Amino acid sequence: MIEKITLLITVTLSGLVSAQAREYAPLPQLQAYQVPEAWRQPVAPLQVADHTWQIGTAELTALLLKTGDGAILIDGGMPQAADHLLANMKKLGVAPDDLKLILHSHAHSDHAGPLAAIRRVTGARLVSNAESAALLARGGADDIHFGDGIVYPPVQADRLLQDGEEVTLGALTLKAHFIPGHTPGSLAWTWRDRRGGKTVEVAYVDSLTAPGYQLLDNPHYPHIVDDYRSTFETVRGLPCDLLLTPHPGASGWKYGEEAVQRESVSCTAYADSAEKKLDGQLAEERSKKAG
Ligand SMILES: [Zn+2]
Repeated sequence: MIEKITLLITVTLSGLVSAQAREYAPLPQLQAYQVPEAWRQPVAPLQVADHTWQIGTAELTALLLKTGDGAILIDGGMPQAADHLLANMKKLGVAPDDLKLILHSHAHSDHAGPLAAIRRVTGARLVSNAESAALLARGGADDIHFGDGIVYPPVQADRLLQDGEEVTLGALTLKAHFIPGHTPGSLAWTWRDRRGGKTVEVAYVDSLTAPGYQLLDNPHYPHIVDDYRSTFETVRGLPCDLLLTPHPGASGWKYGEEAVQRESVSCTAYADSAEKKLDGQLAEERSKKAG
């Protein structure tokens, strides 16, 4: 009897499916997103300045700042990088408990991907701002430009900063600079370190790109171009002896056997080239609209 019922249901269901298939195409397969291999290529810890190390992958920056009172992580790269980051921390003598603070550039999966895992394992406090915290809490879903295309494990911020606020751990003080554009919550961080026996103002400045973004009349971000413009001004004014960026190539860095800055890119040059690119993109968008 049971067999008969099952058979009946099967027949009815398949009949339904084929009847509907005439009207509607099947729903799509689930599909995860992919990124270049260099973004996933682990590298050994690379020293950038006395307290500052790059512990991420060949082409995604994750900075570990060591102080006498524990360490700070800025960015993590892709979601799958968590174990690699913890291993690199261990190589530098930083136990999970020693990580006290997690900061970030912006809340996209290629920079904030493993922050939930790192926060869970280490107990470090995640420091963000209101705009980024909202995006982090929904794991990158409902992104202004990418929709649900690049989601990652959601993570809760423990402290929200205002523009210009500072974070101190041990002898290091980092200042948060709001630089909206790439995301509404994009951040730059500046701090003082030493390199080659000299004091250097280090600036870790978020992406200034607009990859495939709708810049004109974007209903989800009406003032996006104004934000980019004021951000370029902010970036030009940062203390910036040594510029680092989430995508190292953007500031002339190559992470290989050691961390090498092949060309010294100033914050002003970084902002200038980003503005030129944005202007080109705007011109293209305008001509498409007109044509
Ligand atoms: Zn991004």
